[in-house]
Amino acid sequence: FDQLDGHIWMNGEFVRWADAKLHVLTHGLHYASSVFEGERAYGGEIFKLTEHTERLIESGRILGFEIPYTVEEINQACRDLLVKQGFTDAYVRPIAWRGSESLGVSAQNNRINVAIAIWQWPSYFDPATKMKGIRLDIAEYCRPDPRTAPSRAKAAGLYMICTLSKHAAEAKGYADALMLDWRGQIAEATGANIFFVKDGKLHTPTPDCFLDGITRRTVIGLARDLGIEVIERAIMPEEMAGFEEAFLCGTAAEVTPISEIAQYRFTPGALSKKLIDAYEAEVQPKQAQAAE
Ligand code: PMP
Repeated sequence: FDQLDGHIWMNGEFVRWADAKLHVLTHGLHYASSVFEGERAYGGEIFKLTEHTERLIESGRILGFEIPYTVEEINQACRDLLVKQGFTDAYVRPIAWRGSESLGVSAQNNRINVAIAIWQWPSYFDPATKMKGIRLDIAEYCRPDPRTAPSRAKAAGLYMICTLSKHAAEAKGYADALMLDWRGQIAEATGANIFFVKDGKLHTPTPDCFLDGITRRTVIGLARDLGIEVIERAIMPEEMAGFEEAFLCGTAAEVTPISEIAQYRFTPGALSKKLIDAYEAEVQPKQAQAAE
């Protein structure tokens, strides 16, 4: 992945993809002092760009550092890079980290670096395939108590248990893992939030110890616009026996129905389909929508 054509935006400059390197004694690598974003461009426009950039800056603040660019500067760098890369439908990965000026737990004066990479990632929105649903296992690791880790930050360190959980699920033939939290309540998947359907209403865990996804908030808004009641609450795993549909949502996952979580079965149905369609319409560039 480090030898693609094109450019990466790094600390204010475009550098050739293969040359966007850092030193092996980078603090972010040793101590996970790194925060990032995951965004998608549809039809040449990055969906909810400002929300993502604001979350990136806030994640840095939660980890105790100030990203040395404004929201508008990072937004513009993302837009410029998308044009330079020549993509319309793509994944956007901004990242900020403490540099290699000193190596120890304390890194008060290390430079805060920022890079942005964009690669092609068309979204096919093939609802027929999506409606088959994906299979999830339940992870062994739990989302930690917010007093244990800064759970509101999209911080690299929080992904260690996600990779472990996803690998364990994949080894058993599952697509992903559902993580419970330290109280035993349902939290989220390894890179997406979760919703359940019961009696025409959506139920989703309250994001008090995991990422309150931008897609999650978008889906809640779309559902409410469609007159669908959304209930945010603590959900215990045993309750899954009584849910009819389940789906994941996230920038990468978009809206992805679930057929199975460990011993629980779901039938992707009308409500999931409605939200797949509503989300697909929502992500289209606003100028294109206006022209229609
Ligand atoms: N939870 C985790 C752990 C994630 O990595 C993501 C993807 N960023 C999400 C939830 C969904 O967040 P968003 O909708 O903002 O992409």
